[in-house]
Amino acid sequence: MFNALVVEKDEDSGKTSASVQQIADEALPEGDVTVAVAYSTVNYKDGLCIGPGGGLVRKYPHVPGIDFAGTVEASGDDRYKPGDKVVLTGWRVGENRWGGYAQKARVKADMLVPLPQGLDARQAMAVGTAGFTAMLAVMALEDHGLTPGDGPVLVTGAAGGVGSVATAILANLGYDVAAVTGRADQADYLTSLGATRIVARDDLTEVTRKPLEAEQWAGCIDAVAGAMLGRVLKQMNYGASVAAIGLAGGAAIDGALITPFILRGVNLLGIDSVMQPYDNRVRAWQRIASDLPMDKLEAMIQPATLSDLPQLGKDILKGQVKGRVVVDVNA
Ligand code: NDP
Repeated sequence: MFNALVVEKDEDSGKTSASVQQIADEALPEGDVTVAVAYSTVNYKDGLCIGPGGGLVRKYPHVPGIDFAGTVEASGDDRYKPGDKVVLTGWRVGENRWGGYAQKARVKADMLVPLPQGLDARQAMAVGTAGFTAMLAVMALEDHGLTPGDGPVLVTGAAGGVGSVATAILANLGYDVAAVTGRADQADYLTSLGATRIVARDDLTEVTRKPLEAEQWAGCIDAVAGAMLGRVLKQMNYGASVAAIGLAGGAAIDGALITPFILRGVNLLGIDSVMQPYDNRVRAWQRIASDLPMDKLEAMIQPATLSDLPQLGKDILKGQVKGRVVVDVNA
């Protein structure tokens, strides 16, 4: 038996409820590797899956948790043996199959990555899906030519999970980071992560019909979309790229025009962390271990337990979580 956060759905009312329950090992989904989970995290999608599901969960009862780190307990695959340290992000784990809000998880070996040298399970989950995505975004901007010294790089939704890690990685690599936040009280936090400038969210959320604005940004990692992305695209330098990772401010790009693309050659790069090929996942995790300062990662951590999750799920959907929540599933 092991503990897990279980989300159940009342078929009559359609309402869901989440509680910590004991589960028998036999109930675990099919898979070739069983992992003793040490830590998981809270991401925006987890907020949806802890609550009404947002169309992500196909079957109840459900165990959410879109990422986890832990130790292999049993393996039917040659690549892993008991005692190996592993990390998982993506593959719709925690959405359409049981995830990391449990002391045990069973998955396919293809979904796992060995924990990179230099990171323990807790640090790996302080990074989690959000930090992994931030690293993929940095890699995409660099692949499109961004180098330190090109000018300020904008990070939106900066006090959130992806934004916090993106800010810390970029600053550590020598980029000049402008952090956009709607929470003025988080300015010191963002400066401590390495932001050189704080931009108020309201300065970038007015929708305008201007075809272009003054060039200001050499690159951007955008977690917000909505009106913010519409504005930012018009302020990008000639030939610069925006790595679009999220939609915390809406699924549309409000007020967007074609002009930044055809008059300034701006690139909009979509970043998807879910279906990354194995080699790319390994490369991103190795770069996280080398490029993300661990003292800054510590400053982002909010510790939590399984029983804190129902409330944290609500908080993250309201954009009220700061940094990275690290869930100790054995606490
Ligand atoms: P968080 O909730 O931790 O951060 C989002 C941040 O966006 C908030 O902290 C807030 O930052 C800002 N924000 C929230 N609401 C609004 C709004 N209405 N208008 C403007 N800004 C807003 O989430 P994550 O960082 O974990 O994820 C961010 C987004 O990225 C989500 O949409 C998530 O689903 C997506 N995502 C995508 C992935 C991918 O593979 N592409 C992987 C991981 C996440 P502040 O208070 O500083 O303004």
